[in-house]
Amino acid sequence: MTFDWNAHRFSGGVLALDLANTVVFRDAPDRALDRFSDHSQLQGFARAAAQFRQGEWGDARFRPPEHPAQINRLIDVREAINTLFRTAVRGGGLQPANMAAFLQLGSALVCDEPGRQDLALPGSGMGARDLSLGTAAFLSAMRLLEPARLGRVKICPNCHWLYLDESRNRSRRWCDMTVCGNRAKAQRHYRRNRESSDSGHG
Ligand SMILES: [Zn+2]
Repeated sequence: MTFDWNAHRFSGGVLALDLANTVVFRDAPDRALDRFSDHSQLQGFARAAAQFRQGEWGDARFRPPEHPAQINRLIDVREAINTLFRTAVRGGGLQPANMAAFLQLGSALVCDEPGRQDLALPGSGMGARDLSLGTAAFLSAMRLLEPARLGRVKICPNCHWLYLDESRNRSRRWCDMTVCGNRAKAQRHYRRNRESSDSGHG
């Protein structure tokens, strides 16, 4: 089966979290899987992100990193975004060291943009944008720092992805009900059946 950057892989709701979610099962190191360990996936992700993040960015092109130093910087900002928000969701707040790492990497990314680039945050209704993927993810994450939005960032209990719960009463339990919600339901069903059949032994 060939890997596809489909809608499910953009369940984060905003580019910053989708980027963090290019690692699956983060909270289970033996199962964790980094989609960018294959660098050829960077281009596909950037292209799909422009498609699936139109609601956040309007018409945009995200330039994938090419040189090894650019790739490392993107991975570093991805990890900084993940640590900053995952710690906050777990009740640890926006910690100074996490915030500093995030801002320093963001500063380096922003410095690499062309001098006349407008770095307005997404959602500002600007025309077509052309940004490096790392800068765009940084700006997307900046918007999440706002308390009303930060309070809606959650961790999916099944795949450990970060996602923005934009439901009216903040009731979303899964990154994607049709994938993780159903998988969890199937697991509960399996466990229940196994327990009831086990109970006959002994
Ligand atoms: Zn999930």
